[in-house]
Amino acid sequence: MSEELKPCPFCGGRDLQLVRALSTGRYVVECRGCRKQVYLNSVECMDRGNAIKAWNRRAGDERMQMRADYSA
Ligand SMILES: [Zn+2]
Repeated sequence: MSEELKPCPFCGGRDLQLVRALSTGRYVVECRGCRKQVYLNSVECMDRGNAIKAWNRRAGDERMQMRADYSA
């Protein structure tokens, strides 16, 4: 498989699991390091490939957000 999830933006962990929420059919990224779950709620995330892309975008965003928080 070509899936490549960026490391967890919260703890930097790479032990990530992409699971599908049965209730919504959308994907959730679970981090086994810090136990956070990130729900990928946009409609495009019904597709596994798009869910991975969305996570990777989000992972970058979170890191920027955290940096912003530190400098505040
Ligand atoms: Zn984590």
